[in-house]
Amino acid sequence: MNLLDNLEKHFRLVETQKKALAKLGIKTLEDLLYYFPVRYGDTSKVSQIESLVKGDQTVVFGKISGLKTSKGFIKKIPMSEGVLTDETGRVKLVWFNQPYLAKMLHEGQLIRAEGKVSERRGQGDKQLYMSNPKVEVINTLPDGVGDSLFAKNNDDTNILYPVYPESKGVTSNWMYHAIQKTFALKILDTITDPIPEFILKKYNLPNIRTALIWIHAPKKQSDAESARKRFAFQEIFFIQLEKQKERKLWSEKNAFVINTNKKDVEDFVKRFPFKPTDSQIQAINSILVDFRRGFPMSRLLEGDVGSGKTAVAATAIYAVTKSTPKGMSGLPAQAGNLQTAYMAPTEILAKQHYENFVHYFEHLPIKIGLITGSECQIFPSKSNSTKPTKISKTQLQKWVANGEVPILIGTHAIIAKSVAFKHLAFAVIDEQHRFGTMQRQKITGKSQTTPHLLSMTATPIPRTLALTIYGDLDLTLLMEMPHGRKPIITKIVSPTDRKNTYEEIRKEIQAGRQLYVICPRIDEPDPTKELAVMAKSVKLEAERLNAEVFPEFMIDILHSKMTPAEKEETMRDFSNGSTQILVATSVVEVGVNVPNATMIILEGAERFGLSQLHQLRGRVIRSNHQAFCYVFTESNGQKTRDRMKAFTTAKNGFELAEFDLAQRGAGELYGRKQWGISDLAMESLKNIKMVEASRTEAMKLVDTDETFKKYPEIQKYFAEQREKIHFE
Ligand code: ADP
Ligand code: MG
Repeated sequence: MNLLDNLEKHFRLVETQKKALAKLGIKTLEDLLYYFPVRYGDTSKVSQIESLVKGDQTVVFGKISGLKTSKGFIKKIPMSEGVLTDETGRVKLVWFNQPYLAKMLHEGQLIRAEGKVSERRGQGDKQLYMSNPKVEVINTLPDGVGDSLFAKNNDDTNILYPVYPESKGVTSNWMYHAIQKTFALKILDTITDPIPEFILKKYNLPNIRTALIWIHAPKKQSDAESARKRFAFQEIFFIQLEKQKERKLWSEKNAFVINTNKKDVEDFVKRFPFKPTDSQIQAINSILVDFRRGFPMSRLLEGDVGSGKTAVAATAIYAVTKSTPKGMSGLPAQAGNLQTAYMAPTEILAKQHYENFVHYFEHLPIKIGLITGSECQIFPSKSNSTKPTKISKTQLQKWVANGEVPILIGTHAIIAKSVAFKHLAFAVIDEQHRFGTMQRQKITGKSQTTPHLLSMTATPIPRTLALTIYGDLDLTLLMEMPHGRKPIITKIVSPTDRKNTYEEIRKEIQAGRQLYVICPRIDEPDPTKELAVMAKSVKLEAERLNAEVFPEFMIDILHSKMTPAEKEETMRDFSNGSTQILVATSVVEVGVNVPNATMIILEGAERFGLSQLHQLRGRVIRSNHQAFCYVFTESNGQKTRDRMKAFTTAKNGFELAEFDLAQRGAGELYGRKQWGISDLAMESLKNIKMVEASRTEAMKLVDTDETFKKYPEIQKYFAEQREKIHFE
């Protein structure tokens, strides 16, 4: 019996079960043991329908029927309803403002409904119903519920039963029994704890064997919580160990020392057509400090859209450009300078930066190159010292390789093998979240002496998440927006105000402004298909606006299923003002700047994360005209109202990211896909103390023993991880 045994070695599985398990990512006994319940049901809270009492907060199991949607007859709000039946009776379920629910459920399905029992006065009689219950479709009744359910426990303890996410073919019950069986096979005896014992003791965490039992079969809720805490700690601790190790190795590399003259840098900053914010100055200073150390910088600059990250990068680049490699100070400026590679995710952005940099550096005798998949340029041109010109790729590569071009800006074309630098001292990655680790490694690998690295991103993420996934980087936040920028006016629009809002917008468009309309995505996965149909779609909304609201204006659409050429054409028409209204999904290109677009409508706003809404709102921030953001929601629940209130009042994206993390389940927000962290660990990121503890311990450990000689359990854990990745 081995943790890495395939399930089939110990279980007889039919084809549907094999499929379902594969879908859930469960191959081995270990996978099974680490498949954790999403929550615990409590058999003592389950009621028979017959015994429901007004005001109860309860759970009922039964079959659903009579599903329909309707409009409430007093307030005309959309509602869904159905009838739930068990052996003892029937009760009505009603959901307000959630018309899609009736479409998600199917007649005859077995469901679990949890919520409050209310009472309504009908004609003469009183009728009980459950309002807005949480429902879950289940395949079988959980153990302890059903026939034997109502034989109450004598000893009055609650019986917790784990609820596992199911897939067609394996039920939550199956999981439960399978895990109990592996316990019976004494699997736990084969497991060693990867976390050193002194750490477990210090933070009062259960050891791994206890934790596995507590998470799958807790006697009380608090045991389950301790176990979850332990596994979350484990995950974050090992990420931290890895990041702290990377950090240490990085700090042992050599880099070019860039010693800048303070006055020089100040003069450069003075040439910007604006006064830098304090945040920008602080960011520049931190970078200049890093440049002077003998080892490479690795810094992440996080700032909202429009916070002015480019100017920070340009100043740092200036400092690099002014420096020469050690012992080569006598060389002519143009051939001996240290070089910078600046990588942006799209051609539009790369070109935009190139044009800006030409302005920032035009007073200096240096060359700036542009390299993208479709063209290469050099500034200044031979014939006109104030203009850039197109050149061949071969020519540009030659100049970069012999060190004549100190600044090269480009798309990922910049990391191609054929591009070689003479003295690459600095790499800047714009919108770093759009690049993979491989691409980042390629750019820093372009020089024998490791270049200083500046990554930039506008994704505001909670501090605890940043400390974890970017644990190997130093973090600089640009919290301030440039002075004098008019804040966007954000309005939550109720359905009755839609008409007036359209009239306000009409006036602005007539005055020459432009409008984005953002609709929720339509390419949702299967189970939520009904949801997506309910949400406004780009195509239909564009047609509706054209036919019913703004027939006098040009309307265009933009979404992910269009070809790059189509997208580009659409963006060009919108940039030059030939279309006034752009109806789009949330995939509107990052960083794209149409200053004249000063209004944005967010349809179905409750379907987006707050950080995402904030990013979308950021599209209309770059102008001297007053900008407006109109938020249209389909639901009006308390949670939605709280979130939308936070959206109108929050000062910046970080505040919103924190709010999002606190209010919604972390898993709903980011999940494994985006950050490579399990939902369980994401959830624990709400707990800053725990993140800091795991970080501190990891740092201490790496500091004294970076190869973990004294901790064979840790070595073993990493070796196993590597092996698993290898097999995938
Ligand atoms: P982002 O951080 O999104 O990359 P940019 O660097 O593109 O933002 O800056 C957005 C705009 O703000 C640019 O037009 C830039 O010139 C301008 N800008 C940058 N810093 C300031 C400042 N301190 N004051 C006024 N405008 C600024
Ligand atoms: Mg930018």
